[in-house]
Amino acid sequence: MVIGILALQGCVEPHAEHLRSLGISVRYVRLPSDLDGIDGLILPGGESTTMLKLARVFGVWEKLLPLSKQIPFWGICAGSILMATQVENPEQESLGVIDLTVRRNAYGRQLESFQGNVDTDTGPEAAVFIRAPKFTKFGSTVKVAGRVNGEAVFLEEGRHMVTAFHPEMTDSNWCHQRFLAKISANTPGL
Ligand code: GLN
Repeated sequence: MVIGILALQGCVEPHAEHLRSLGISVRYVRLPSDLDGIDGLILPGGESTTMLKLARVFGVWEKLLPLSKQIPFWGICAGSILMATQVENPEQESLGVIDLTVRRNAYGRQLESFQGNVDTDTGPEAAVFIRAPKFTKFGSTVKVAGRVNGEAVFLEEGRHMVTAFHPEMTDSNWCHQRFLAKISANTPGL
């Protein structure tokens, strides 16, 4: 199994460390050819506008939507913004991989970044929120897998998942393991 991490900008290396500690091979994705043969793709946290621009410049952007029909994607924070159907505050182009409207920087500025506990469907987990978006609207096929103060912060739809927080910034591998389970269960094209 090889997992790609979109490595144009943002919080890339901590994901690689989590995955390697689980014995998984990692490929940094910068060029379209880096997408060949990967079994899952992580779209990391960072700055979604910058990632979007670079993904276009490097020719990766237009490959992503077709690839999302084949393999699981996990978007973290800025990555979830790239995967959403609609982006607010301000509007921005996105892939529409998951039936979701996101509001960028909805918890406020950098100073309002916080650490909290996410109530997941498998128990509480520590989570770091950094200029996080809010998941303001999502379709009936989207499942809420985690909440903070009642608000949905971890969503799954089919083979894909998005987290408004950064599981790579905490020691536990719980979220990476969850993504691996999605990859193992994936049937490309369905
Ligand atoms: N505020 C960033 C954006 O809108 C996301 C922040 C993050 O990924 N931690 O793109």
